[in-house]
Amino acid sequence: MSVKSDTALEQELAPRSSFPILSRSVYGRPLVYLDNGATTQKPQCVIDAITDEYLNVNANVHRGVHYLSQEATRLYEEARATVQAFIHARSTAEIVFTRGTTESINLVAASFGEAFMREGDEVIVTEMEHHSNIVPWQLLQARKGIVIRVCPITDEGRLNLEALSQLFTPKTRLLACTHVSNVLGTVNPVQDIIRMAHAHDVPVLIDAAQSVPHMAADVQALDCDFLAFSGHKVYGPTGIGVLYGKEQWLEKMPPYMGGGEMIGKVSFEHTTFNVLPYKFEAGTPDYVAATALARALDFVSGIGFEAIEAHEHALTVYAREQLSQIPGMRFFGPSDDAVISFLVGNIHHLDLGTLLDRLGIAVRTGHHCAEPLMHRLGIEGTVRASFALYNTKEEVDALVQGIDRVRKMF
Ligand code: PLP
Repeated sequence: MSVKSDTALEQELAPRSSFPILSRSVYGRPLVYLDNGATTQKPQCVIDAITDEYLNVNANVHRGVHYLSQEATRLYEEARATVQAFIHARSTAEIVFTRGTTESINLVAASFGEAFMREGDEVIVTEMEHHSNIVPWQLLQARKGIVIRVCPITDEGRLNLEALSQLFTPKTRLLACTHVSNVLGTVNPVQDIIRMAHAHDVPVLIDAAQSVPHMAADVQALDCDFLAFSGHKVYGPTGIGVLYGKEQWLEKMPPYMGGGEMIGKVSFEHTTFNVLPYKFEAGTPDYVAATALARALDFVSGIGFEAIEAHEHALTVYAREQLSQIPGMRFFGPSDDAVISFLVGNIHHLDLGTLLDRLGIAVRTGHHCAEPLMHRLGIEGTVRASFALYNTKEEVDALVQGIDRVRKMF
């Protein structure tokens, strides 16, 4: 599989022109956007979906008998069905709209934690987690006295599965683990991990923030108990995300927030709760973002993960090869997926990122919301280039030339 040039990409994958922002310039130079792990750019169809809903449909969902409310409700529920099909969930009752991965994980920590965890009970996370899969468990620890156990990583940046197998105890209640590391680009063998956890009767939450944009997700084939992802990382709008949960768990979990729409009947003496998934959707949801997320998922499905994976994989391999020619280049992690973290010589990651920015190249610098991982690696931060379906070989070349230019300044 060769790496696509701009022209081939235009013809075979997704027209870059579908993403209007990619044709802008910064500091008078063409934008090279390589910060897709943080957020992806939006295709015109997503932007149109937002505009169209505010122009023609806008009304609160599930609350009105009037025409617009009915139509907005239909779009919102169709969006839920699109998500269900996209991740192969059994039913729409298992699809809860949230604000993003962070809120999805907080929901599970608070609600699953409330129902199923007591003082001394244990949750397993890993050394490569994003803060959003660490801090919610620490909040639960402060509230209920649970214990957080951490699976170490190897020097290559992979999970130490042998060590993981030793972490299960009769008190383990949940394993919460990222599918793809946002720093190392490691694709974790989540299927094996889920099998291992289930053999101990332990349910599993998968943080799929960095996997859903890059590879097909099938929650039934995986047999995960929960899966969380963010719309904005998969070409959708900000402010919308998804929590998938097996019905058998969600049914038994208490509401996360109270308010409108999550109730059955309310009196000052007693309140009953709505059915799934509405029990977990208190207040007016971002129904416009939900519709636009569905358009983003349609867009991705229209291209297909076979083509996306092949393109992104070839691009990542090419980038690693080219970057490795740069004197002083140090990589962190295996970059199985579309993420490359590195440092060059003694150049501070922030200096490198800032100077690349002046060349029009957007990369991420810092600890990437994974400070415990930085401690493990013995560094303060890295520069991270992360790719999306619209990135090209020419952009990788621009990155390599940019780094070389910065290197020569030091
Ligand atoms: N988990 C991982 C692995 C991530 O990379 C991120 C964001 O970078 C998150 C969780 C949090 O996502 P959000 O900020 O969209 O909630």
